[in-house]
Amino acid sequence: MISSELNSSSQGHLILGGVDAVELAHKYGTPLVVYDVEEIRKTIQQFKQSFEASGLKYEISYASKAFATVAMYQVLKQENLHTDVVSGGELFTALKAGFPADKISFHGNNKSKAELEMAVDNHIGVVIIDNFLEIKLLKEVLEEKQQSINVMLRLTPGISAHTHKYDQTGQVDSKFGFDVESGQADEALQQVLSIKQMNLIGIHAHIGSQIFGVEGFEMLAKKMVEISQNWHDKFDFVPEILNLGGGFGISYTDEDEPIGANVFIDKIISTIKEQTKEKGLQLPEVWIEPGRSIVGPAGFNLYTVGSRKDIPGLLSYVNVDGGMGDNIRPALYQAKYEAVVANKMNAAIEEEDHIAGKYCESGDILIDKQALPKVEPGDVIAMLDTGAYGYSMASNYNRNPRPAVVFVEKGKDKLVVKRESYEDLVRLDESYI
Ligand code: PLP
Repeated sequence: MISSELNSSSQGHLILGGVDAVELAHKYGTPLVVYDVEEIRKTIQQFKQSFEASGLKYEISYASKAFATVAMYQVLKQENLHTDVVSGGELFTALKAGFPADKISFHGNNKSKAELEMAVDNHIGVVIIDNFLEIKLLKEVLEEKQQSINVMLRLTPGISAHTHKYDQTGQVDSKFGFDVESGQADEALQQVLSIKQMNLIGIHAHIGSQIFGVEGFEMLAKKMVEISQNWHDKFDFVPEILNLGGGFGISYTDEDEPIGANVFIDKIISTIKEQTKEKGLQLPEVWIEPGRSIVGPAGFNLYTVGSRKDIPGLLSYVNVDGGMGDNIRPALYQAKYEAVVANKMNAAIEEEDHIAGKYCESGDILIDKQALPKVEPGDVIAMLDTGAYGYSMASNYNRNPRPAVVFVEKGKDKLVVKRESYEDLVRLDESYI
């Protein structure tokens, strides 16, 4: 979202989903996480339209890790999406929200036996198996419970997406999935095919995050069809589903040039059509797992400005009442964001500042350099595009309560996660004396 695309009132207040952001800050307090639900729905529709036009069977499986709460799963259910989970906690939340179990995929490189039992007991849609121990554990669980389940194999296809190294997961040296080149994937396939309680429906790969080029997805689509052909020739098995993961890039600042969902999907589909035709294979069903692109641009973090530090000859530090506890990405990945002063949308730009968090770390700088109007205590800063991997990575560092989350849509606001209280912070503490 670029700041010029934002809506504001005649008073010069930022408007989110038809609601005044300054009023939200006053009503619910800050720091506050706000999601414009219409924006979430719009992105989902864009992904769907791109697939619909192709005539291919498909599923969009939202990557929960980007933002997972009961209300979010309810929106996904309304939109008839699938979702993936990567922990018992995400699975529990999805089920609590009434999300249909058969539309849930379970990811993770170290699922515990208890998590696999939970998946089997709840008859979830598919377990995406990551490693050999998991094959063994899942087999045990299925035998103990006399159940069967759909599975996919997560593969490491040896494709890197040229992005931040912490966000790369498809290259060979990765903690995720079965390596294709060394033959691990073939071995996993043979093991799974020999287990009658496992119904192998597809293969999965995720090549990275915040990807801006189609080339990585094109290579991945080619590679997956090549693997399908190899397995057809060697093992007489062809995966029905190719799951190409997520990673579709969004624009955090004007340095990022995202390409539309349709461009990614069109490239994936045309490559798969072309490659399967060339190899004489049937068209597979295609799955994707977008996380960031669905919730990132829909999220805003609101903060209240407190103190500031002006240093002669240097940028000032504008201190806000949140920081790395509600959005660790700038400190963790040097992630860049943009911000506006929500109560001064019509004011002229007068200064460039560091926007600093309140946590006791010099690295707790939310934005290194932001052009702003004259900022004063009590102003409300809105950080843009914070919807992915912000609240979901929130912590209680420095024993700060995690913020509330509010959904806005069509002029209405609804609290969907309460602000933590100090009592919540000591809820699990036990006395020692
Ligand atoms: N799928 C898998 C397996 C992932 O690991 C991730 C993110 O790490 C995603 C999907 C979502 O990626 P993004 O939020 O970049 O779309």
